[in-house]
Amino acid sequence: QRRALDRLRDVPAVTRDTIRVRLHANIELPSELEATMHAGAEGIGLLRSEFLFMNRADMPGEDEQTALLRQVVDAMDGRPVTVRTLDAGGDKLGSLVGGRIGPNPALGLRAIRLSLARVDLFETQLAAILRASAYGPVRILLPMIGTPDELAQARAVMDRVVRKLQSRRVPLPDPLPPLGVMIEVPGAALAADALAHHADFFAIGTNDLTQYTLAIDRTDDSVAHLYNPLHPAVLRLVQFAGEAANRAGIPVSICGEMAGDPRLTALLLGLGFRELSMSSTNIPRVKQRVCQIAMAEAARRAMAVMTEWDPARIGALLDDFNATLE
Ligand code: PEP
Ligand code: MG
Repeated sequence: QRRALDRLRDVPAVTRDTIRVRLHANIELPSELEATMHAGAEGIGLLRSEFLFMNRADMPGEDEQTALLRQVVDAMDGRPVTVRTLDAGGDKLGSLVGGRIGPNPALGLRAIRLSLARVDLFETQLAAILRASAYGPVRILLPMIGTPDELAQARAVMDRVVRKLQSRRVPLPDPLPPLGVMIEVPGAALAADALAHHADFFAIGTNDLTQYTLAIDRTDDSVAHLYNPLHPAVLRLVQFAGEAANRAGIPVSICGEMAGDPRLTALLLGLGFRELSMSSTNIPRVKQRVCQIAMAEAARRAMAVMTEWDPARIGALLDDFNATLE
């Protein structure tokens, strides 16, 4: 079984009816790069940049961040790297917001909100990402975007950083890296058609999208049994955001845990997704599943699933379909 999965490494992820699917890796630490390449990832769909700020008292400077990001870009050897800007606050790196953790961290000053409140940190990070992008294809991803206005503010900061780098004669790629948004807040998913006009790409974060849609803290064990991305409310938001991206002609991927679960691959493909980003350990199994699927049938099954309201029934329909593939 292991051997069979290993052999899949150099095989492209293509459905039985020859639809190409891209399988990218989520990474949190540069030490995962080797496993990422070994798993046959075609790129990094989500580089969580919090590692740059972890386990230290001071803030990393622009040169230090550039060097660490460049290491990732170089290791990926021409494959795309999607760098998410700092997603601090909430469950991550609470100490960075230093003593200012609000009454409800999940709903407080975190992620893009923190970056826009601390423009000095944000500018340094953007400068480092832009400098690293001279060495390979990079995309810039903004976490927890809620409104088109936040994206516009972030883009204005990026434009300013670009001008500063240009005046320092720092080499930058032409075109500049695309600027995309995470769709992980229900409001962003519902406004996805508006956001799609301003964003260069979407990455749907189903972990937070599930948490916020169902009002279930993803870190609280006492409600973990209620956390279910197969809730139709979550699935409808995912579907709507995907369709909005497709209508606007911008790339869209899924990068939450759903993307790495082979049980859900047929559903996600059937809903029209062609790019999934996951922990690299899941890539072989998801690829195996992709190769078993006929897209037309997956689309038909996905339509049936989307008429259901009971998550357990949805799970059963997916299991039935998966059983016909094995
Ligand atoms: C998500 O929220 O789905 C996501 C991919 O981001 P993170 O898990 O880092 O919050
Ligand atoms: Mg998230």
